[in-house]
Amino acid sequence: MGLKGGKYVAKKRVILGLALTFVALLGLLASGLWYVSFYGMDKLSRYLLFGLGLAFLLFVIVAFLGVVGVVLIIIWRRPLPVLDRPINMVITRLLPLVMGAGRFLHLTKEKLERSFIEINNALVRTRAIKVPPSKLLILAPHCLQYSGCPFKITADVNNCHRCGRCQIQELLQLAECLGVNLTVVTGGTLARKKVKELRPEAIVAIACERDLSSGLQDVYPLPAFGVLNERPNGPCVDTRVDMEKLRQVVQSFISPKVETLGVK
Ligand code: SF4
Repeated sequence: MGLKGGKYVAKKRVILGLALTFVALLGLLASGLWYVSFYGMDKLSRYLLFGLGLAFLLFVIVAFLGVVGVVLIIIWRRPLPVLDRPINMVITRLLPLVMGAGRFLHLTKEKLERSFIEINNALVRTRAIKVPPSKLLILAPHCLQYSGCPFKITADVNNCHRCGRCQIQELLQLAECLGVNLTVVTGGTLARKKVKELRPEAIVAIACERDLSSGLQDVYPLPAFGVLNERPNGPCVDTRVDMEKLRQVVQSFISPKVETLGVK
């Protein structure tokens, strides 16, 4: 992927490997239930166990198709509409479960979240989405604002007085030059509200690993590309974003291509 690089590049295979292991374990469970239904535990209803085994088997098949679909899309770099539903199930149901299970294997939460964000971004890229600038929304976190700034930009980002003490000024410049929407949110609830209000066709979201992974799952299948913020002062305080990377991502989603003028 062209925008890959730097310390935040995560290994997609971490979470996909876990997902396949999870699916294999469920497959074993389904086989076990069927075995018991035919050879033992006569007191339990054979039909009940058979039904449970069948349900598990269906889940395993759909999940397997979804994981294979994600892998093929990433390898081939093109969408597979025929597997849309299984992939949707993997992104919104299986991967959150896998991320929970991964913590028991002492994999750090952040590592799994980055892995999920990388997978999501790779899937969005393969869809080659182009939207009019007015239909693209940049969702920026409140922590990008200078912590000593007195202006309430979450109500309206234009309340920023553009003093240059934080990157909100640069974000405003970028949004104006490209003609896209920009909103600054305090968390997932406000982000969902803004998405509902503005009804964008594509989102570029800036946030930390935790907020991005949950937010991207929330809006799926709406195409949303995640850009991790930088935390030179620790989490949630005076964070930053790589403006050049952000500009490239936003430009890649809008059509016709608009050149920025004077944006750092
Ligand atoms: S650039 Fe805007 S948001 Fe940032 S400190 Fe200045 S006035 Fe506040």
